[in-house]
Amino acid sequence: MRNTVRRGYVLYALVVAFVCGLVFLMYSYAVNGEVWVTKRVNNHLYTNRQLTTAGSVFDRNGKALVESDDDGRSFINDVTLRKATLHTVGDIQGYIATGVQTIYRPYLIGYDFVNGVYKAVKDGTGNDITLTIDSDICKAAYNALGYNNGTVGVYNYKTGEVICMVSKPTYDPENKPDDINTDTSGKYDGIYLNRLLSGVFTPGSVFKTVVAISAIENIDNISERTFKCTGKYKTEDGTVICNATHGKLSFEKAYNKSCNSVFAQLANELGKKKLTATAEKLGFNSSLSACGVNLSKSLFNVKGADKNELGWAGIGQHTVLANPCHLMMLTGAIANGGNAVTPKIVRNSTSEKLSELLGNISPLAQISIDTETASQMKKIMRSTVKNYYGDSRFPGLEMCGKTGTAEVDGKRPHAWFMGFSQKENFPYAIVVMVENGGSASSVAIPVANKVLQAIKSAG
Ligand SMILES: [Zn+2]
Repeated sequence: MRNTVRRGYVLYALVVAFVCGLVFLMYSYAVNGEVWVTKRVNNHLYTNRQLTTAGSVFDRNGKALVESDDDGRSFINDVTLRKATLHTVGDIQGYIATGVQTIYRPYLIGYDFVNGVYKAVKDGTGNDITLTIDSDICKAAYNALGYNNGTVGVYNYKTGEVICMVSKPTYDPENKPDDINTDTSGKYDGIYLNRLLSGVFTPGSVFKTVVAISAIENIDNISERTFKCTGKYKTEDGTVICNATHGKLSFEKAYNKSCNSVFAQLANELGKKKLTATAEKLGFNSSLSACGVNLSKSLFNVKGADKNELGWAGIGQHTVLANPCHLMMLTGAIANGGNAVTPKIVRNSTSEKLSELLGNISPLAQISIDTETASQMKKIMRSTVKNYYGDSRFPGLEMCGKTGTAEVDGKRPHAWFMGFSQKENFPYAIVVMVENGGSASSVAIPVANKVLQAIKSAG
């Protein structure tokens, strides 16, 4: 009798354990099912650990950039288009972490909780994604960069749609180099990195825009002040060298001519606290997101800086680092009356779940500029192009902008341009960063113009 009771207890315990296990399994399946089923060991969807069966990715004009057929995944039949859109579309192995094929993989495959991958396996298709990019404009940007590495990003600063996103070095996903993971010459350095979203670089003089905004907001009558450039800015800790001896000049002219002496002085006059507060309000030192991913963080840290170093930080040197997409957003915010619209890369999708997810993203981003400040900044950026670079370098675009030639240790400087058209019917902001490209004026401006003219011609 006692044995029977004991067996009864054991049986109860087993039943309870079984039910607990079942509940745990159901719970885990509900939470993790999507991840488990889209893992690379699932042979229904992957061959040799590569994505094979999934929906198509189109550009904004309906060109299929990648699709599934009997041979697996096929990229568009144009080698330059493949290279130019690789970092946006993503590879099939998933090395390019921010590629659409990687970040939206479950939606492309067509996984859902009730049917699993039933639809994808049965029909051989998942869900399609249409991107905001124009692949021909990406190709124009790729060609404009020539032999240089770097990145170009263009977006509509009113709608947030990214028209162009290119990152170099890149490769042809249909003919991936055999030595890509073993080469030690450096030619493939950071090849899987989308430099627009995941790179950070010394900004140089484009950072003067941040200092200018801080000066507009913190220094009374800044526009009436007169400064003097003797070719350098001297402090007890050292000297910041200017690119010329500019003599007497106003705040606006100092920005126009990119005078290092004045901006090093302004950084010191503003002081670490105010300048850091402005930089942080404009998105430095914080995790911004755009295009479905978290951007690499732009950094501004002058805590330990002496006066000389603070001066160098004021001209975008010292330890300042900027993410190109972040600077594109900042440019767009100035263009759009202070409101930064979050850049987006997906136009629509046949996946209801993805559409719902994208619909929940707040369109207004994480940085903001006072309307009056944005308007003053826009005026100064316009006079910089009109009176100093020359409108002839951007025919018919009414551009506002700023170049930056950022010094880096032991290599040629990075050539930057950030700017936007102020034309009501051409609301595009652009960032160009040519890695170790040399002079911004002779390298970055022509790239920016070629890309924007291609957009203009495409209508
Ligand atoms: Zn100067």
